[in-house]
Amino acid sequence: MQNRLQVAVQKSGRLLDGSLRLLKECGIKVDNGKDQLKASAGNFPIDILYLRNSDIPQYVEDGVADIGIIGENTVFEKQKKINTILPLGFSRCRLSIAVPKNTVYPGPEFLNGKRIATSYPNSLRHYLNANQLEAEIHEISGSVEIAPNIGLADAICDLVSSGSTLFKNGLEEKEVILKSEACIVARPGLPPEKQTILDRLVFRIEAVLKARNNKYILMNAPDEKVREIIRILPGMKSPTVMPLAEKGWSSIHTVIEESHFWDIIDQLKEAGAQGILVVPIEKMII
Ligand code: AMP
Repeated sequence: MQNRLQVAVQKSGRLLDGSLRLLKECGIKVDNGKDQLKASAGNFPIDILYLRNSDIPQYVEDGVADIGIIGENTVFEKQKKINTILPLGFSRCRLSIAVPKNTVYPGPEFLNGKRIATSYPNSLRHYLNANQLEAEIHEISGSVEIAPNIGLADAICDLVSSGSTLFKNGLEEKEVILKSEACIVARPGLPPEKQTILDRLVFRIEAVLKARNNKYILMNAPDEKVREIIRILPGMKSPTVMPLAEKGWSSIHTVIEESHFWDIIDQLKEAGAQGILVVPIEKMII
């Protein structure tokens, strides 16, 4: 037991699928925790504890779990003595203040003296204090977006990703308090043998995340165009150039960030690249 890292993940909810998928892509097999509180990974020294999202910071601070996968917003809200180790790139959202559509909203000063419903009272209080605003915080545990419609509040402070829930409830986003994504948190002062397991886990996760953001691209071009195409490519290292069976033609291979690919695709075509293939990468270790 002592030599296994205890990893807390959300028992059910938005973070669960992304957390288990990430572990799976790291080659770590665990059962989905529908009816169980704890599962052991068969091929890596970690145990998974399935817990309520909002309880995870406390469990990590107390050392019941060594690390946890939670949203950065929860780290900020709970203010526990835990360290954020690594952002994970999924469950991106923002904590925002929204008001009913057509409200005359001159700026944050609108919030003075108003009632704001939220499940994140500490984060909201922090925002109000930082902006010298005084409002009444109504803490509710869910379905915050209906509070203005039933006369419970003048505004809400809630998590937003696409904005469709706000839209469906006739609300408009006015202020972004913080931005969040899933992250790994750890208790300070892990014993060395657990720190070693965490380092191995982080190494695998970084390889998976890097691979997700990068693509392997291949293209063909006449030999006399190869030099110009290489100049356009912002690859990891020098690209691979191989002759094709057809004389006078080459195949060029490289790895680039997906966002860069869309920036340069037109230039590549103009420079004479043909038959461009974009292939996902499973793991990337540099
Ligand atoms: P929940 O499953 O609703 O308890 O939310 C758990 C965590 O998922 C939150 O603390 C956020 O980090 C994240 N989250 C919540 N709502 C959203 C959303 N609309 N889009 C993306 N992530 C979210």
